[in-house]
Amino acid sequence: MHLSEYSYILSILRVNLRKPEGQILLSRSKSHFSTNNSKEKLILIIGSKFIFEMSSTKIIVIGGDAAGMSAASKIRRSHENWEITVYEKSPHTSYSACGMPYYIGGLVSSSKELVARSPETFREKYNIEAKPLHEVIQIDPKKQKVLVKDLKSETSFWDNYDKLLIATGASPNKPPLPFIDSKGIFCLSTLQSGINTWEFINKHKPQKAVIVGGGYIGVEMAEALLERGMDVTLIDRNPYIMKTLDSDMSEDICSALTKAGVKLHLDENLTAFESGDDGKVKKVITDKNQFEAGLVILGMGVSPNSGIAKEAGIKLCDTAAIMVDKKMQTSIENIWAAGDCASSYHQLREKHLFVALGTIANKHGLVAGSNMSGEEMKFPGVIGTAITKFQDLEISRTGLTEREAKAFDIPYETATIKSSNFASYYPGSGDIKVKLLVRTESREILGAQILGNKGSAKRIDTIAACIMGKLTAYELAMMDLAYVPPLSNVWDPIQIAARRLI
Ligand SMILES: Cc1cc2nc3c(=O)[nH]c(=O)nc-3n(C[C@H](O)[C@H](O)[C@H](O)COP(=O)(O)OP(=O)(O)OC[C@H]3O[C@@H](n4cnc5c(N)ncnc54)[C@H](O)[C@@H]3O)c2cc1C
Repeated sequence: MHLSEYSYILSILRVNLRKPEGQILLSRSKSHFSTNNSKEKLILIIGSKFIFEMSSTKIIVIGGDAAGMSAASKIRRSHENWEITVYEKSPHTSYSACGMPYYIGGLVSSSKELVARSPETFREKYNIEAKPLHEVIQIDPKKQKVLVKDLKSETSFWDNYDKLLIATGASPNKPPLPFIDSKGIFCLSTLQSGINTWEFINKHKPQKAVIVGGGYIGVEMAEALLERGMDVTLIDRNPYIMKTLDSDMSEDICSALTKAGVKLHLDENLTAFESGDDGKVKKVITDKNQFEAGLVILGMGVSPNSGIAKEAGIKLCDTAAIMVDKKMQTSIENIWAAGDCASSYHQLREKHLFVALGTIANKHGLVAGSNMSGEEMKFPGVIGTAITKFQDLEISRTGLTEREAKAFDIPYETATIKSSNFASYYPGSGDIKVKLLVRTESREILGAQILGNKGSAKRIDTIAACIMGKLTAYELAMMDLAYVPPLSNVWDPIQIAARRLI
């Protein structure tokens, strides 16, 4: 068929198959194939498959960050003419929440550097209709439509979809305590929350900061606020921080924080806040102490944003994340979910969990986008790999900790070794500590935790690959890994640990 005939078919179909508001109906009802001209009728029939492929699917994505935009971009790469609309309730799309501590700490000069692609870029370069400041407040799965609130004009409207992706992320946990909404108390989630924190620090120049929660965000923010010259107190209700690691590893992290000047208060429960007449936070009160504070950062964990999915009748897992299968499909036809709001199957724990990580959200988005495009792809699940750093101390973990292995009744053996991050004679070398776990019978690697100086933590990736490949301690010890004195040791520290468990 000549190109001009394709254009002719397209123009006829566009006129005939669109509702007044622009919804293409080819996938829904044949009654819309209306024309009196017999040539046009024939063209409609011949061209229907072609046009279906070309332009008949309307995609709606709820949430315009890692998972949502990964999926939207994948769908666009596969289908040039599908209509893709992304509703995002904040002003930004495709931003790096992970970069916010470094922006607040002053290492990244502008919040703009944290934005990979703006709504304008998506619109102009990728033909993806990204709509910031638009919140989806209801899903009607039977009629395949969503209710959208335009947050600028305060008006609402319904929009139809053929395929829907829920990528609404997670929200920080905020206990319902007196004065929790005082000025100067921040949770980090969207880029806007990071900008608000940065602006508050610059305007009010707080001297004393209290961080509640010693997880990844708490530790990263402790470094950031020290960088900004603040006096930093960190409180946690647990007896040690970074509880995704074992306590013997966490002790080293506590020492590093204390050495850097962070006042650690462990085993202490937040009970209230006090604020002044100006509405600004003044004090953080725990069951044991009172702390003056001009700035408070809450890093008390996150929960999946699954409310609208639940209301629409979509099945959730017991962590309240949206239950998805390996193709990121939810329990309702034509609805997928991805990212922090969706469940992830844990390969070692053999259950669906809620894991809020950018690494996972991006993979979820690609898998959801592929399946929504009609190209089958499966997400194999997670094993709990995570990494961070506090000043010079790099921290990482994968698989199961000793505490988890005990809790799940998995027979294990463990070895902890201390070595140098690269050849000890090479200038600038430092420490590394590796804790490795194997299954007692099979000697398969179960998990690892690494602490150390430059270049230490990313060694966890090799161990993650071993766990996913079901390799044994012997296979890791004999693996052909690279060595040069400025970067490693002739026996890499992870292989020294593996040798102990052969
Ligand atoms: C401070 C910080 C540091 C982090 N560091 C790391 C790190 O180093 N490594 C790592 O792997 N992960 C890190 N994470 C986690 C990572 O940022 C998230 O896992 C990732 O952003 C999740 O992507 P997502 O697309 O699922 O959700 P989000 O990034 O949360 O995006 C969801 C989007 O949906 C929007 N939305 C929600 N509800 C609606 C609605 N009803 N209508 C319209 N829009 C809606 C939200 O505004 C949001 O923009 C960090 C997170 C934070 C906060």
